[in-house]
Amino acid sequence: MSDSMPLIALKNNVALPHIVTTFDVGREKSRNAVQAANMGNGLVFVALQLNEDDEEFGPETVHSTGCIARIMDVTTISSNNLRVTVTGLRRAELVNYYFVGSSYYMVEAEEKPYTEDDPDMAEAYFRQVKTSLSKVASISPRLGGDTYRELAAIRRHEYFLFKLVSKMDLPAERGQAILEAESMQDALSLADDEVYSEISISQLERKIAANVKKSMDKNQRDYYLREQLKAIHKELGDDDEDDREKLEADIKAKGMPEEVEEKVLKEAARMYRMTSSSADYNVLRGYIDWMMDLPWGVYTEDTEKLSDAVEILNGDHYGLEKIKERITEYLAVLKLTGGLNAPILCLVGPPGVGKTSVASSVARALGRKFVRMSLGGVRDEAEIRGHRKTYVGAMPGRIVTAIKNAGSMNPVFLLDEIDKLSSDIQGDPASALLEVLDPAQNCTFRDRYLEVPMDLSKVLFITTANSLDTIPAPLRDRMEILSLEGYTEEEKTEICKRYLVPKCVKRNGLEEGDVVFSDDVIGSIITGYTLEAGVRGLERQVDAVCRKAAVKKADDKDAEPVVLSGDNLDTYLGKRKYERDAYLTSDEVGAATGLAWTSVGGTTLTIEVSTMAGKGNILLTGKLGDVMQESAKAAISFIRSRSDDYGIDSSVFETTDIHVHVPEGATPKDGPSAGITMATAILSAFTKKPVRHDVAMTGEITLMGRVLPIGGLKEKALAAYRIGIKDVIIPEDNKKDLDDMPESIKDNINFIPVSSADTVFRNAIVGL
Ligand code: ADP
Repeated sequence: MSDSMPLIALKNNVALPHIVTTFDVGREKSRNAVQAANMGNGLVFVALQLNEDDEEFGPETVHSTGCIARIMDVTTISSNNLRVTVTGLRRAELVNYYFVGSSYYMVEAEEKPYTEDDPDMAEAYFRQVKTSLSKVASISPRLGGDTYRELAAIRRHEYFLFKLVSKMDLPAERGQAILEAESMQDALSLADDEVYSEISISQLERKIAANVKKSMDKNQRDYYLREQLKAIHKELGDDDEDDREKLEADIKAKGMPEEVEEKVLKEAARMYRMTSSSADYNVLRGYIDWMMDLPWGVYTEDTEKLSDAVEILNGDHYGLEKIKERITEYLAVLKLTGGLNAPILCLVGPPGVGKTSVASSVARALGRKFVRMSLGGVRDEAEIRGHRKTYVGAMPGRIVTAIKNAGSMNPVFLLDEIDKLSSDIQGDPASALLEVLDPAQNCTFRDRYLEVPMDLSKVLFITTANSLDTIPAPLRDRMEILSLEGYTEEEKTEICKRYLVPKCVKRNGLEEGDVVFSDDVIGSIITGYTLEAGVRGLERQVDAVCRKAAVKKADDKDAEPVVLSGDNLDTYLGKRKYERDAYLTSDEVGAATGLAWTSVGGTTLTIEVSTMAGKGNILLTGKLGDVMQESAKAAISFIRSRSDDYGIDSSVFETTDIHVHVPEGATPKDGPSAGITMATAILSAFTKKPVRHDVAMTGEITLMGRVLPIGGLKEKALAAYRIGIKDVIIPEDNKKDLDDMPESIKDNINFIPVSSADTVFRNAIVGL
């Protein structure tokens, strides 16, 4: 029976059944084969090349007897080299092949059993080899000690044979000859010859070692060995010299900074002193490849005229006037100063408000390359700064990798989610990042792998974050914060019409007019299918419609355009997910709607209070943080102290337990701004008078019942607006924030500024 699997050709190594073999693959066909096998069942056919010097290979130019092996591990050692570990399964004969998409060969391989031989004869050979082995064990470093004991204990002929061959370090052709042998006794006989020659080689080695030790000090010895190596290379006809000269010329032509060039030339010289199969050689090869791939000295020219840049910036986004204005100023200063000491911009806001897209637009406006790196969950300093190249599989850090991908030394570099950096015992990535961002240090940024400084001072770094609270303070100090807030429904509709629809239409291979979204339909998608501050969910919904239209068009090129309407929306997007209603649909006793700010935008939260016979205990649930718990206690104390004014019998507090709960119990909540909401719900529970369900509120409460200002009013107002709240109670001191409030919010929501809790209660509790 034959199986088909990708072909890997080795130049000077043989994979053997039962044996774990590690080798490096650098040729594209082999790398593709490894990848294809990894995606399939992991099996490969490994064969030795007929001619070691051939760069190209195919099924015709390898030995037809090879080994079916299973890939155990693959590590990337440089951009073009993989280190592959396989376990040999069985020897096999290549019987057929085909070429897959001009990227690798698939071969059919049939197991190749040994011809039947006389079992006694085979056993006799087996014992013969073991006897030879016992002779060599005492003098050979390769076959002595544990290796000998391990081999001597093996009973199965085939397993013994290949284990032995693997320990002997034979030239590939001789290993291949043993693999190809017709019968087991032939194979064992060949192995016996090898063990015999091992005896004489070991004797010789001992003699040389003794001589070397005796007569040479270290320098002399190195010199001697190097001369030997040269002589060997010469004998073998290796034309390393040409290669070496070419590489040196390439390095010099790269325009690297002097210090870097010196280092790379030094490492190249070191590499040529090693044999090409040694692990160190490969490490240096990988290093030199990396250094050659980096865009040393490549700088793109910035857009000549500022007005052209500004036009691109404005054209790419709707609204965001303040941000665009600030970025225009930034670009002007950048142009005049050449970027010296420019602050790092940090775009802060909920997801989907256009942070990433503003940054990429800055790159387009300047005519620079754009690269992006997400810092979310980066906890190991080495991800930023790389590993020393002495580690197996070491690579430069992600900053250097991104610069390589950018292809220039002055790209716009977006560091996404800087608020999600974490640190643990692996080192502190924030301090490594500080070195990257600090203009005083980043002209000599040192990646551990590169070992030489890299100048990052011309890179334009922009960072993004959802929330300022979790950005490490030293990083925050170096950045200028630009806040992007959530959009109103009208803004979302405009963004959708002008940007998202054309983008999705194009992305799905459609043409303008193939899908028609009216303003009303967009409005229904926004309110019925998304509940977010930004427009990412909206873009996803539009994309979903476009995909369906694409299916239709792919089926029939002249299909009618898809015209969306209120009636057919659910056939494209499924049932409405959200109803535009307050969470509370009727006035209730003990339940009030508060407004909260979260890193993903504003949100409403219902606070529930119930009272029951007890001993005056207070129970707070819903994963409330310390500040929120204290705020609840202050609210209770305030109401107790004013119980007469609200017609509550003060003795009731001693005989009643109060339970305050904030639903969605698994979500952590904290902050003081729910103070007045809790007070309202508590008072309602004690007076048994309901709270208006179409009122929402936000504000901190003091023990004296004063209402203190809060942050994030715009996001909170947008959240209230999204669920159709009419009146929003806000602290008097937040009145100034209303100047920045979008008109559409001011038209639809009645803001009630208050300075005392009393006014809150009168506005929110029915019949107080
Ligand atoms: P963020 O990085 O803030 O999470 P993105 O930049 O990924 O958000 O934005 C999500 C999508 O919304 C992108 O396709 C972006 O182009 C679009 N978008 C967001 N804000 C605007 C805007 N003001 N004008 C045009 N498109 C926008």
